[in-house]
Amino acid sequence: MKILVAVKRVTDPDARIRLNADATGIDMTGVEYKVNPFCENAVEGALQLRDAAGGEVVVVSIGPEEVDTYIRTGLAMGGDRGIRVPLEDENLDSDVVARVLAALVAKEEPELVMLGKQAIDGDNNQVAQLLAGYLGWPQACFASEIALSDDQQSAEVTREVDGGLEVLNVGLPAVISADLRLNEPRYASLPGIMKAKRKTIDVYEAADLGVDTTVKVRVLKLESPPERAAGIKVDSVDDLLGKLRNEAKAL
Ligand code: AMP
Repeated sequence: MKILVAVKRVTDPDARIRLNADATGIDMTGVEYKVNPFCENAVEGALQLRDAAGGEVVVVSIGPEEVDTYIRTGLAMGGDRGIRVPLEDENLDSDVVARVLAALVAKEEPELVMLGKQAIDGDNNQVAQLLAGYLGWPQACFASEIALSDDQQSAEVTREVDGGLEVLNVGLPAVISADLRLNEPRYASLPGIMKAKRKTIDVYEAADLGVDTTVKVRVLKLESPPERAAGIKVDSVDDLLGKLRNEAKAL
């Protein structure tokens, strides 16, 4: 079974971020990138399915040359080969990403596309759903468990929804997005990292794939949250209750 898994690099969630001068993005000075955590779950999920069913895992990312580092992370975990479609970050929105992925699906003809449920930088949570729409494929988003049928024609996917669990059966080919509880992503081993250096990353231009890369959404402005006021110390529990009752009106 061929599985295409989409990986996005995101700004390090633990970094202290500042806005750039015109407040349309993040000042990247001194800020590192990491693989989006949900994408690591997607890679791990794809590797487990491949190891059980055979086939290959193709790790895909859309972005500038530097995203090769994060494709290689997926290859070091065990992905078989990579594909990058070069586009600058400012020329990407979830819809462009979905259109590029749809073109790659037409070229690669996988049985399954796996994605993270959302990228933790933009928090859009849109690409998997848009991609399934463009392809006309079934989708199972926020997967916390995936079981492939014996004939590999369908998958039973458990999703965590507000009221509990929902179990879906999707015919393949399908789009599945990974939630954090799907698995515990493996660390890339040293031999895995060495092997990944020799694995192929093909570069396909969006124009050659026939994708219209016009963005539909532009970020006009970002605003930092207001600075938090300094806290105070209270002398006693009574003092605390008094302040909660009379000043914060919380009781
Ligand atoms: P989003 O809908 O933008 O929150 O992203 C959901 C998922 O789409 C991510 O977890 C990735 O699997 C995939 N994705 C988003 N942007 C990219 C990108 N530039 N390259 C590859 N995959 C992406």
